[in-house]
Amino acid sequence: MMPRHFIALLSAALFAACSAATPEQQIIDDAADALGGRDRILAVRSLVLEGGGSNGNLGQDMTPEATGQTFTVSDYRRAIDVAEGRMRIEQTRTPNFTFFQGQQPQTQLLGLDGDVAYNVGANGNATRASVAVASDRRAEYYHHPVTIVRAALDSTATLANARGLDTEPAVDVTTADGVTLTLVLDAATGLPARVSSRAYNANLGDVTIETIFSGYEDVDGLQLPTNLTTTTDDVQTAGLRLSNQVVNGDVGDLAAPASAAEATPASGPAPANVVVEQAAPGIWHLAGQSHHSVLVEFADHLTLIEAPQNETRTLAVIAAARELRPNKPLTEVIVSHHHFDHSGGVRAAISEGLTVIAHDASIAYFQEIATRPHTLQPDALARNPRPATIRGVGDELVLSDGSMTVALYPITDSEHASTFLMAYFPRERILVQADAFSPGGAIAPYAANLYENIQSRNLRVDRLVPIHGPIAPFSSLTTFLASQAAN
Ligand SMILES: [Zn+2]
Repeated sequence: MMPRHFIALLSAALFAACSAATPEQQIIDDAADALGGRDRILAVRSLVLEGGGSNGNLGQDMTPEATGQTFTVSDYRRAIDVAEGRMRIEQTRTPNFTFFQGQQPQTQLLGLDGDVAYNVGANGNATRASVAVASDRRAEYYHHPVTIVRAALDSTATLANARGLDTEPAVDVTTADGVTLTLVLDAATGLPARVSSRAYNANLGDVTIETIFSGYEDVDGLQLPTNLTTTTDDVQTAGLRLSNQVVNGDVGDLAAPASAAEATPASGPAPANVVVEQAAPGIWHLAGQSHHSVLVEFADHLTLIEAPQNETRTLAVIAAARELRPNKPLTEVIVSHHHFDHSGGVRAAISEGLTVIAHDASIAYFQEIATRPHTLQPDALARNPRPATIRGVGDELVLSDGSMTVALYPITDSEHASTFLMAYFPRERILVQADAFSPGGAIAPYAANLYENIQSRNLRVDRLVPIHGPIAPFSSLTTFLASQAAN
């Protein structure tokens, strides 16, 4: 059988030769026909999608490759004001794993109004999200058959690069508000099979975010998918099963709250504030803000523990380290674990010539991180490419030159990560670790395991110099565990 679009092309050529649809336009017309017709789509004013499913834990799972940690999503409701281009998502997320914020369900309210993205906290206060979040959320708005096809029908949209006409018709759509997406149709039905767009991730660089649609059902003459599965590259980040869909219901006013709309969005990471505190001769806590580092002085070089968050933070930490000891080269950085917030500065550290020291189970990951393209937002390593040198830590790695000794051990059997390292200074009786126990924190689900690791290695710890929280006596950990046991 001749593909429908080909017949349509033929008839367009025969009967309207002067205004023949382009292959790109034909794909959009086919999609509109399959969904219920152009007029039906243009008559959509609002959509409400309700159901549940799961969210992934991208960048924060047990290993770089693992996908077992998910949040169960319940009470999912996405309201879209198609006429105004506004969206509001409400959902409740419950972790199916030991989560550092605790196991209680967490409600989220995420909104988009024009170029204003906002989040509403549990206290009802709306805060404006960053420019990057707004850009990602605007793309997400179009990851639905109705919004993408409706945008593509707009005369100001740009359609390009029709391909796969006989197999999987695909077309690139740049919407009137400047988002470029790829729409792919099911060849047999003409229904949108998936939508993808490119995005920038500070850790992964250029990524493709794709939403796959299936399980179409008829809702008031419109075909709507009941299953939406979203991936970042190959990792599933969301799976939704919709149980109730309403077309042109009352969605109320989805305008951004004034407090969010009037706020200035962050256009990048917060400026770094590095607060230096000497913990012992040759050991400095590079604190300030949420994620700290530790500088270690050897006889002829310096070693950093942790390149956290992003290049803004990590380059500032590296500069502070060089300022403290300008006559010794900073040659290496120890990474506590692979989680995105603790390794977001690794590429910046590589760009500064530092060797990366990390758990054996994360070597492949950091090798990949070092070579991934960052073309959408060239970062320090993209601007100053260098090959990465990565040194693995197995059961133990002792760095020692007579003037300084630090031993690196895996924190085994933690439910936080399988790439977890702690750093122990035997002479100073100092322990450095991230996330396992943060002095002053109210919740510490991984603290007992940290204590077991310290005991099994027979480490004699007097002080904690942590990646989160202030320098604290070891008793802060034992007191916390005792109070937990008492409750
Ligand atoms: Zn972590």
